Amino acid sequence: MASTPMPAAFLGHGSPMNALERNRFTDAWRAFGEAVPRPRAILAVSAHWYVNATAVTAMERPRTIHDFYGFPQALFDVQYPAPGLPRLVEEVADLVRPDHVGADVDGWGIDHGTWSVLVHAFPDADIPVVQLSIDARKPPEWHLALGAKLAALREHGVLVVGSGNVVHNLRAIDWQQPDGAFDWARRFDDRARELMLERPHDISALASHPDFRMAVPTPDHFLPLLYIAGLASAGGRKAEVLVDGYAYGSLSMTAYALDVHCPDTGAQPGAAALATVLPPDEANV
Ligand code: ZN
Repeated sequence: MASTPMPAAFLGHGSPMNALERNRFTDAWRAFGEAVPRPRAILAVSAHWYVNATAVTAMERPRTIHDFYGFPQALFDVQYPAPGLPRLVEEVADLVRPDHVGADVDGWGIDHGTWSVLVHAFPDADIPVVQLSIDARKPPEWHLALGAKLAALREHGVLVVGSGNVVHNLRAIDWQQPDGAFDWARRFDDRARELMLERPHDISALASHPDFRMAVPTPDHFLPLLYIAGLASAGGRKAEVLVDGYAYGSLSMTAYALDVHCPDTGAQPGAAALATVLPPDEANV
């Protein structure tokens, strides 16, 4: 009996405040969570675990990490008490050989790139969550290939979620356009969409797009997209747009889903406010 692979998604998380708010993006994340079969585990590739290593969280009870400052106390009070699944490390390690993946037993946990979307998609926090770090030493093609290698996880009940933003330039934030985007942001996001929907195996061609340096001043928020593109190409499938839109001129909130169809989720605009997000080595935990 042929089994349908577990769906996968790239979610544009935007501001951490989206964890506390309800808008059409968070509604789309919720619709995604409600549409998928119950996973055995969630493997999250978050922009906010961008380090010089390939590692997988391997603790029974991963802590909720508040890796930002300048936000209301209510955001620091958010907990996402999902269990871990330490044995997933071996499954991931087997798939990615000859690349090496380390087991992180006490370093990281569940960062806000992951929990700010999962509090909406899986509000009960009862599905095990494992994070895969983004290895900052590797080129885009390597991340695309690693994503493809993870495809077998989907056959074993693991839902893979990439959490970042296709366009993410905090220096270019324009508070005057909370739901708008600069032309360069639109051009880049449009091109990413063409590739995700038609030729996901070519997604790393975005690195030579004329607007790449503005849209992707640092790779952390962009690279999670490549994992979902890798899964799409490995499965011979094209991604679908789950929700799209912009925030503050220089953020794309576009989300993509694979092998699941979600109903339309309404159209009221809205994006959460921004403050400062810390890199992992400065996280105040
Ligand atoms: Zn972020």
